[in-house]
Order: sequence, then structure tokens, then C-alpha cells
Amino acid sequence: MTLHRGTARDTDAVRPTGAAAYTDGSGTFHPSVRRLLAGEQIRGDETLDVDACVIGSGAGGAPVAAELAEGGMRVVMLEEGRWWETDEFTARTRSMTARLYRDAGQVTTVGGTPIVLPLGKGVGGTTVVNSGTCFRTPAGVLELWRERFGLDALTEQELEPYFRRVERILNVSQVPAELAGANTAVVRRGAEALGWSGDFIYRNAKGCVGSGVCNYGCPTGAKQHVGITYVPRAWAAGATTYTSVRATGIETSGGRARAVIARTRGGGTLRVRCGHVVVACGAIHTPLLLSRAGIGARSGELGRNLAIHPATALRAIFEEPIGLDAGVPQSYYIDEHGERGIMFEGAAGPPDGIAMSTPGIGAEHRELMRHYAHLSQFGIMVSDSTRGSVSPRLGRPLIHYRLNQRDADAFAHGIRRLTELYWTAGAHTVMVPLGGLLTLRDGDSGPLEGRRVTARDLQLMAFHPLGTARAGADPASAVVDGDLRVHGTANVHVADASAIPSSLGVNPQITIMALATRLARHLLGTGPPAGEPAPEHMARPKVGVHS
Ligand SMILES: Cc1cc2nc3c(=O)[nH]c(=O)nc-3n(C[C@H](O)[C@H](O)[C@H](O)COP(=O)(O)OP(=O)(O)OC[C@H]3O[C@@H](n4cnc5c(N)ncnc54)[C@H](O)[C@@H]3O)c2cc1C
Ligand code: SF4
Repeated sequence: MTLHRGTARDTDAVRPTGAAAYTDGSGTFHPSVRRLLAGEQIRGDETLDVDACVIGSGAGGAPVAAELAEGGMRVVMLEEGRWWETDEFTARTRSMTARLYRDAGQVTTVGGTPIVLPLGKGVGGTTVVNSGTCFRTPAGVLELWRERFGLDALTEQELEPYFRRVERILNVSQVPAELAGANTAVVRRGAEALGWSGDFIYRNAKGCVGSGVCNYGCPTGAKQHVGITYVPRAWAAGATTYTSVRATGIETSGGRARAVIARTRGGGTLRVRCGHVVVACGAIHTPLLLSRAGIGARSGELGRNLAIHPATALRAIFEEPIGLDAGVPQSYYIDEHGERGIMFEGAAGPPDGIAMSTPGIGAEHRELMRHYAHLSQFGIMVSDSTRGSVSPRLGRPLIHYRLNQRDADAFAHGIRRLTELYWTAGAHTVMVPLGGLLTLRDGDSGPLEGRRVTARDLQLMAFHPLGTARAGADPASAVVDGDLRVHGTANVHVADASAIPSSLGVNPQITIMALATRLARHLLGTGPPAGEPAPEHMARPKVGVHS
């Protein structure tokens, strides 16, 4: 299948991306219409007839639904989670984690050292709880996709109008220094003293006040997650979101999908007859639904090739007060070691959130938390060459992932370099998550030197699962084609993280959204959006390619 190619008209318009754009709170979520139907209320069997059924309302699903509805299609979105009002976001980490994350944030890998892999669940998907960091797909990654997966159309030039559109709709703009928090200030001080490259992060925020709880639902509505940006656009154009509704099957005949079958929380069944099925359940759940429906399994790659962009974090104690709870938690990145696939990104947060994610128990943990006011924390992410898999087990995903030695070596390097940064910035204690919590004092990195680090020594989390229905031109080695159509089907597409064929080395949300937008416009036959303003500035981090 070839993509309908229109011509994106160039525009001289420039969209501001500075502090004024970031802090301007006008024009945030005020939908004139809400087209929400709660699955709790649906107890019987219902049949719907639409043009497109979009399954999942996160970074991939919401933009597709909005674009298709605005393009004139009748659209239904099915979402397993609930709709949450911004007013319900209390900033209390424990209860918000239980509400907004799947399995209360305890989804974990097996097969090696367990890695916690939090996933959002609700209208807006994981974007409701994410940190708001926005990086475009690195040029080298697109090159890899062309060379290795035959995704020839996915050039920077081709994707430019889609990124512009996504970034305008989400108001992607740069965190100003005054909202970045003292955690960023000390880390930046260290990076600058070492001459390392980095910058304040571009985020999808509008009217952000730096309250520091992005991962528990932004209580001001400043974070422009897709539940309050794209979903209301879809409603305004006539789409309906069914919440607490879980898609369980896709009926097919003659190589075409005919209907999506879903169970409602109220015990009923929805049958959505449609011309197009767009699956956007995320990289962990999309392969499960497709395999259950007997779709996309021909290449044998469905559920495989899972990249997760594993992460760990260092903590450091300073004489000066820091205050991890004030400011944008993820406000700065350092790409000095990007060529090795290592990215440092801010990882601040409120005390109970930090306590939950900090290793150790009992007296050791208490002692560390006692220093919270003087504590800094910064994350290390590795563009992984390890690949895992997702398979169904008793109706739930079993996620296998065993970090390889190459990636463990990258973590070892990242840990040494970030420790060096912390000494340079003036920390007196650095706590390294190696074999428990290794405490280093007064500039002494001796215990790290020459130490061989294996996966077993590390304490990892991961926030960016990708690749389990990967895109590629060859049906023998990929699940979807370059236009995200499932190979061998006429009208089933995948619009989420599972289609991304390799590690990105950066946070993935706007890559997913740009590809989802492209898919929608392809289905509509409208081609790339025209007249989208160019951002004034955008981050271009150094990122090594690790396939
Ligand atoms: C704590 C955290 C911080 C993050 N920070 C960033 C960041 O700063 N920047 C960034 O780029 N990325 C970040 N990410 C990752 C980013 O949010 C995800 O990569 C992105 O949201 C994935 O989009 P998706 O559409 O694939 O899936 P999701 O956004 O997860 O959406 C999938 C939706 O599908 C629903 N669903 C699943 N199965 C079914 C079914 N059978 N029927 C109906 N509905 C179903 C789910 O409930 C969910 O709502 C972060 C992630 C986490 C966990
Ligand atoms: S720092 Fe606070 S106001 Fe800003 S996006 Fe995060 S939660 Fe919202």
C-alpha cells in the first residue's frame, strides 16, 4: 500500500516555544461538549455502526480518533479505564497511583531481574501520568528504520508537518529556568562545570506552575495530555468515548475486519461494526488483542522485539537545601553521552513518590528519606539493544525481558559519569543503586572503578515499552507496514508504541502521536497537514543508534 501524498504547504508562521508560551494558562481544557459513555452503565448487548473504531485512548489512539472525526468519519473510541476530571487529581501519590496506573503501577517484567514497567489506564492512557517530555524521533533512528526495516517514507522531511501539528496542539514549549526546580539547578551546575551538553526540556504544558506531581495527574490541567487535548477535539467533531470497556476480539471475514467486540464493566457486550479498526492499546496490550483475534501473527514477530528504554536513578545529598517537590520534575536533560545511548533526565518528585521508588528498607531507607530536603535525584536511561517479548498468560500479559551485558555496561558507564557530575556539583554523598544501595562519600568513586556491573546488580524501572507489533516493509519480519496497516489485512491498523520498530533513545510520546496523525490522514486520504507553524526552537539531542 502506498501512502496518499499531498503537499504540505510551507508557512512562514513561527510558533513561540519560550517561557511565555509555557506559562500561559489561557485556552486550556474547556470542552463545549463531552461525548462520554460509561461502560458501568451498559449491562446488555449493544451494536454500533461507525466508520472507525479506535481501541485505546492514549498517545496513539486519541490523535487518530480526533483526526478521523475532524476529517468527517463517525468514530468510536473504546477505553478500558475511566475518565478522570482534573479536579479529581489530588496530588496524593498513593491513591493517584492506584487510580491512574494499571495494576496500581505494579506491572513487572519476568525472566531476568524484575523491572517495574508502569502503564497508565484511563482516557488519555499513559499520557495522563507521564512526565510531559517531548523529543522528536532522532534523525539517526529514522535512518536506521529506512535501512533496516525498509521504512523509506519516514524521513525527517516527511514527518515535519505531522510533528508541527502535534506540537502545536499540545503546546510543546520549553521549561523556563525559574520553574525547573533546585534539583535541575544543581545538576545543571555540575554539567556546565564539566562542559557537558544539555538543556531545559520541551514539554506539552500550558500554564504550568511547577507543582511537581506530573506522574500522579496534573492538578492544574497544565499538562496537555491527550485526554484534555485530542479527546475533546474528537468529541467536538462527533466522536464518542466508551469508558470502562475492554476490547476482547476483532471479527474478520475475507481478510477484512468487520467488528470489534468489547466487554463493558457493567457486564454487557458492545459490538462495534466499522470500516476501519485502529488498535492503540499500547505495546503491552496491543499484541495480546491482535493475537487473540488471530491477526498479525504471520511473521511470528507479534509480541516480540520489545524494547523498554530501561532506567535507573542516582540520589545525592548536598549541604544546601534542594527540595525535590518544587518545580517541574523532569525539566532538564543531559545528552553528553547520547552517542552511547545514555540519556540523563530529571527525576524529581514529592517525598512519598521518592520514598516509593527509592531502594532499601528499614533503617537504611529511613536514613535516606531523612535527608529528603537536601536530596537530589536524576535519572539514567539506556537505549536498549536487549529485546523482550509479551505473550498471553491466563488472559494477562507475561512480559519477558532479560537485560544483556551490553546494556548493563552502558548503565555502568552512565552511573560512573553521573556520579562524577554529582561530585563536581558539590554533593557530599552519592547513593548508587548497585547491589542494593551503594553509598559513596566525599568525592570517592573508588568502589565504582573497575567494578563489573551485571543486570543482577541493577535496580531498574522502564517507562517506554515499544516494538511488539513492529513496522517494516517486509511482511516476513514485521507486523505492520510503513503506513501502520497490519500486513495481510485490509483495514486493521496499529497506532501506538507497539509499531515503533526500535529503541528511540528518547521519550516516545510525540513520535507515537506524529505517526498516529499520519495514519489518520492517510486513512482520510488528505495527506500531510498544511500551514502548520514551525516551532521557534526544538530540542535536537545527541542520540546514538542502538537497533
Ligand atoms: C511514569 C511515566 C512517565 C513517562 N514520561 C514520558 C515523557 O515524559 N515523555 C514521553 O514521551 N513519554 C513518556 N512516557 C511514555 C509515554 O507516555 C508512552 O510511551 C505513551 O503514552 C504510549 O502511548 P500508547 O498509545 O502506545 O499507549 P497508552 O498511552 O498507554 O494508551 C493505551 C490505552 O489503551 C487502553 N487499553 C489497553 N488495552 C485495552 C483494551 N483491550 N480495550 C480498551 N482499551 C485498552 C489502556 O487502558 C490505555 O489507556 C512515560 C510513561 C510513564 C509510565
Ligand atoms: S509541574 Fe505541576 S503544573 Fe506543571 S505539568 Fe507537572 S503537575 Fe502540572
